[in-house]
Amino acid sequence: MHARISHNVRLDTLNTLAVPATVERYARLEQPSQLDALLAEAGEGPVRVLGSGSNLVLGTELDGLLIRQCHRGIEVLREDETVVHLRVAGGGNWHEFVAWCLQRGYFGLENLALIPGTVGAAPIQNIGAYGVEVKQFVTRVHCRHLDTGGSEQLDREACAFAYRDSIFKHALRDRVLVEAVDFALPRRPQPVHEYPVLARALAERGLLRPSPVEIFDTVVALRRQRLPDPVVLPNAGSFFKNPLVDAKHLRELQQHHQHQQIVAFADKDNPGWHKLAAAWLIEQCGFRQRADDVRVHPDHALVIINPARLSGERIRRFAGEIVSAVEQRFGLRLEQEPRNYG
Ligand code: FAD
Ligand code: NAP
Repeated sequence: MHARISHNVRLDTLNTLAVPATVERYARLEQPSQLDALLAEAGEGPVRVLGSGSNLVLGTELDGLLIRQCHRGIEVLREDETVVHLRVAGGGNWHEFVAWCLQRGYFGLENLALIPGTVGAAPIQNIGAYGVEVKQFVTRVHCRHLDTGGSEQLDREACAFAYRDSIFKHALRDRVLVEAVDFALPRRPQPVHEYPVLARALAERGLLRPSPVEIFDTVVALRRQRLPDPVVLPNAGSFFKNPLVDAKHLRELQQHHQHQQIVAFADKDNPGWHKLAAAWLIEQCGFRQRADDVRVHPDHALVIINPARLSGERIRRFAGEIVSAVEQRFGLRLEQEPRNYG
């Protein structure tokens, strides 16, 4: 069956910031075999890929073709008593996949419960939460090039995963569609529960040696408690990455801002480097007290909320104000996490 291209399609309900937007041409990809015909009919302008729209700031009018990756399915490639190898289609819902794995005794992803979005988008920014990143479990990413339709498989190393980063944000940015992702998951629990907020919540529940299911339940509860639900309060999760600085830079900042306690965490992947809490930097610039139409969440300064469902341009302007204020005060340039499209 052919995928149908629709014209001038509204995207208001297809992005979690609830930005009012229209795209020139739009198609749902239900089967990988539909891609060649779609690319042949793409017409003028860029070809872009959409998942669940939870990490995007859309402009009001997008040109070109937007392909929504909707293809779902999970295949068990092989398993033994220690590990299972899965191939998961890119259009599947991430949280449902995590829950599916736990039900079958496939572990490791429990800390990444309730992250919005699709499986195909997970490697794009190497999604992470509560001390775990998806890169630990991805073995291969199956891609199709958007210019030629040609296939390419990237192993973990080729994906160049880093903190909220991968090759898909650089050399392959907007050049490929992630058709499927291969995962290797342990069949014996290897719980990770040292992350402070999670450890505290588990301790409060009396869970000092938590099972993966208990971690999953606690992460879901924590996220429901701490993060605004985009359906109620439109947002795109953390709007900025936490800046990484080396030890010398951290010392300089501490000396320069002696009256404040700079919030920093040692980066476990990069010895000698420190992650600064972007939320804290934003708070110090007074954004939590502001009541603009687009604003930071009062309990979570890293999350920009759009209660009045204003335009992407308005959100970008507000984000720009934050970047300038933090740069002026701390000499650090915050990097935006969600992509600007259109
Ligand atoms: P989209 O927003 O649709 O797309 C994001 C980017 O990926 C775009 O550039 C798009 O072109 C590209 N893309 C999407 N699918 C494909 C594909 N199949 N092939 C090629 N390119 C593709 N992120 C975290 O890392 N950790 C968190 O804990 C977290 N919490 C969040 C909480 C909330 C409330 C929200 C709203 C967001 C949160 N995010 C978090 C960000 C977001 O959930 C992730 O980045 C997610 O992976 C985005 O998936 P998506 O399908 O919505 O992608
Ligand atoms: P939190 O625990 O209040 O922490 C806030 C920030 O401080 C996070 O960005 C986190 O970095 C950092 N941090 C805290 N303790 C740390 C430690 N011991 N070592 C290193 N970094 C530390 O986080 P939260 O906002 O409630 O979110 C919980 C988890 O979900 C976090 O892992 C967060 O990244 C993730 N999350 C991500 C998004 C997104 O859109 N990207 C949105 C919501 C939540 P890390 O981000 O590296 O953990």
